[in-house]
Amino acid sequence: MGMGYNRRAFNMLSVTEARERILSHFKTTATESIPLIACANRVLAADIASAHELPLFDNSGMDGFAIRAEDTSASHITLKVVGDIPAGSTPNLTLKPGEAARIMTGAQLPEGANAVIPVEDTDFHNRKAGTSAPETVSFEKKIKAGENVRPRGMDIQAGEVVIKKGQTLKPQDLGLLAMLGIANVQVYKKPRVALLSSGDELLAVDAPLESGKIRDSNSYTLAASIESAGGDVLRLGVAKDTRESVEGLFKKAINENVDFILSSAGVSVGAFDYVKEVIEANGEMDFWRVNMRPGKPLAFGKYFDKPFIGLPGNPVSAFVGFEVFVRPVLERLSGKLESSRRRIKVRSAEEIESDGRESYLRAKLHEENGIQIARLTGHQGSGNLLSLVQADALLIIPAGVKCVPAGQEVEALLL
Ligand code: AMP
Ligand code: MG
Repeated sequence: MGMGYNRRAFNMLSVTEARERILSHFKTTATESIPLIACANRVLAADIASAHELPLFDNSGMDGFAIRAEDTSASHITLKVVGDIPAGSTPNLTLKPGEAARIMTGAQLPEGANAVIPVEDTDFHNRKAGTSAPETVSFEKKIKAGENVRPRGMDIQAGEVVIKKGQTLKPQDLGLLAMLGIANVQVYKKPRVALLSSGDELLAVDAPLESGKIRDSNSYTLAASIESAGGDVLRLGVAKDTRESVEGLFKKAINENVDFILSSAGVSVGAFDYVKEVIEANGEMDFWRVNMRPGKPLAFGKYFDKPFIGLPGNPVSAFVGFEVFVRPVLERLSGKLESSRRRIKVRSAEEIESDGRESYLRAKLHEENGIQIARLTGHQGSGNLLSLVQADALLIIPAGVKCVPAGQEVEALLL
């Protein structure tokens, strides 16, 4: 009784301990240089500094007329239009007192000009393409020096670090790199993961149903999860509960030189553990009981020199295990400095009972008076994938907590 319980609790690894143990076997992948267009969602392997300032030259922020601010006043003023400066051209003129030049957004400001009056504030309203500039332009407005001008160097200084190593590149980052003329980018190689499911009960998604069998759903959840974390997947398929079948798939993983092997199922008590047998013939494997729910059983080992992570088979346990143990591995491998999963504080709409293990509960969030409120999406059985599909967060109930009263603040991992 008491003894047994205590011994079990003592043998149990905390989530943090288990994650640290796994992470200690991984380091960042090698880097490669790839074309800018292929860089979305890739992780930058070196700081990017701008070789020059941006904007590159003083330019107009509006379609209008480049002017000398000192020529303007609140009463009627007419300036002689001495030039026409479309975007992309070099203005070869200098504005003298009383002069203006028609200018397009982004076009370089001529010498002598220090402001732009927007076309809509003047008597020249014809903005059709191909219309030639007027001989004079009139307006009634006092313009300050610098108005509607984007000065050279206003955004970025030469030598300034604009994107840091470890950042996952977003579409707008690619745009900035293009502004800086960076055609090829040094990024971390994408981690490659060999993925297999195991179990004689598993059918392919398009196979006819058979008595006692279920469809292999984990390989879809996990393959997509790996990709969402920036990895490439080698889908090995389903290992039957035989030594030969498991060994065959593992050998494929080794030949394909992946970063690690990920499997689901076959790690719980009573599972036919051919996985263990195969790994131990050419490596080593530990079974851990982690103080968490769902997903207590977890396997970690090496097959030859390849790390192996064995997640539990139940669909929600496999998903949660991925988020808690495997996503961090992929983030470390791919050099990401920030996790792609955000954690926020929310309030539970209801009382939640827990068994004292660190629990990950499926919940949907909604906002009430500026506060995020969480409601559980259904029963929390580890096979109930629908309640995970309906959730947009996992509430994290810390180890040791048995009851969260309604209205209490809890941490939520946003999915
Ligand atoms: P096991 O860890 O092998 O005892 O499996 C635990 C539970 O997960 C069993 O109900 C299995 O049928 C189920 N399961 C195992 N693998 C998968 C899979 N790839 N897709 C869906 N369910 C699975
Ligand atoms: Mg099984």
